Amino acid sequence: MKQRVIVLGSTGSIGRSALDVLSHLRDDWTVVGLAAGSRAPHLAEQAARFRPEAMALADGAAGHSLPKEMDFSPRLFSGPDSHVELVEAIPCDCVICGVVGTGGLAALIRAVELGRRVALANKEALVIAGSLVVPLAKRTGATLIPVDSEHSAIFQAMHAGRPQEVKRVYLTASGGPFRTWSAEQMDEIQVEDALRHPTWEMGPKITIDSATMMNKALEIVEARWLFDLRPEQIGVVIHPESIIHSLVEFCDGSIMAQMSTPDMRTPIQYALTYPQRRPCPSPPLDFGAIRQLSFHPPDVQRFPALRLGYDVARRGGTCGAVLNGANEAAVELFRTGAIGFRDIARLTERALAEHDFNPTPTLKELLAADRGARLEVNKCLTS
Ligand code: MG
Repeated sequence: MKQRVIVLGSTGSIGRSALDVLSHLRDDWTVVGLAAGSRAPHLAEQAARFRPEAMALADGAAGHSLPKEMDFSPRLFSGPDSHVELVEAIPCDCVICGVVGTGGLAALIRAVELGRRVALANKEALVIAGSLVVPLAKRTGATLIPVDSEHSAIFQAMHAGRPQEVKRVYLTASGGPFRTWSAEQMDEIQVEDALRHPTWEMGPKITIDSATMMNKALEIVEARWLFDLRPEQIGVVIHPESIIHSLVEFCDGSIMAQMSTPDMRTPIQYALTYPQRRPCPSPPLDFGAIRQLSFHPPDVQRFPALRLGYDVARRGGTCGAVLNGANEAAVELFRTGAIGFRDIARLTERALAEHDFNPTPTLKELLAADRGARLEVNKCLTS
C-alpha cells in the first residue's frame, strides 16, 4: 500500500520541492491532494502530473483560470476554507504544510485534530499558536515533524541521546546578504538587495526574513515549541556556508551537528520517510569544494529582530501572534517601498510593546492579536 500525502502550498517554494521529492519516491508514495493559494494554472499543471483525488484553491476568484476539462476528475474545493475542507475530505498518512504565514494555520490545526502526521514547513503557525497546536498534537496522537532545515537538523541530532540529556541547541544562520554591512550601509538597503540570499533559494517572504534575521527570531520560538526548550537553551550561531544546519549539545559536552548541501529537499524527504532514510535527489556534499566552515556570534545591535525572538519565546501568550503578524505586515510595506529595511524590526518591536498581553489566549484571541498587530504596523502610514 502506498503512503497517501496531501501537499498544502503546492505551488510555493516548499511545495515544488516536496513534489520533486514525491515524484522521486513515487513507488511508495502517492499525492492525493494538492492545495494552492491563487496560482491556478500552476496548480492545474501539477494536478495533471500527479493526478490527485482532490485539489483546493484558496482564492476562489482564480478558479476560472483552471481548465474546464481534464482527463481525470479530481474533487475541487475553492475559497478561503478550501484547504481545511481538503484535509477533512481526503484521508491521508501525511500532510505537508508548506503555506507561508497565518494562512496555513487553520488547515494545520485540522490535520492535527485528525491525528495526521504533519511535515511542518509553516513555522509561523507554531510561532502564533504553538501553545495550542503542540498540546493538541499530544492529545490526538498527531506527529509534528519539522521541515525547517534547522529544526530538521535538531530533530535528527536529538536522536543521539535522550531528551533529558539535551543541554542546549544551536540554530545556525547564514547571516543573510547584510551579514557584513555596516549600520550606515543598512540604512540604504533596497528591496532587491534584501531579496538576494547568499546560500538558499526560497520564497520572497522568508528571504526578507532572513535578511532582517527575523527568520531566526521566528525559529527560536518554533524551536521552543517543537522541542520543549527554555529560551536560554536556544543559541544562535552565524554560519555563512549553510552546511551545518543546526547542532545539539548534550549534558556531557558532546555536540551533534547535521550537515548537508543547502537544499530543502533533504529535510522535506526526511519528514516523509522518518524514521527511515532513502536516497534523495539533492546533490551530495562535496568536501573537495568546501574549503572551510566558519562560525561567528550574531550581532544583535545590527539585527535587533533576534532579541525580539528571545523576548517572545520567554513571554509566550499573545506575543508570538503579534511578532508574526507585525512582521508580515511590515515586510509587505517594505516590499512596496512604503518603509525602510530597518523599520521592519522597529515597527514589530513597537507592536509588541503596545499590545494588550494575554498569557493564555484562545485561538480566537490569537487571531485577534494578529489582526491588531497588523493594524498597529499600518498606522505608520498615517501618523
Ligand atoms: Mg530555517
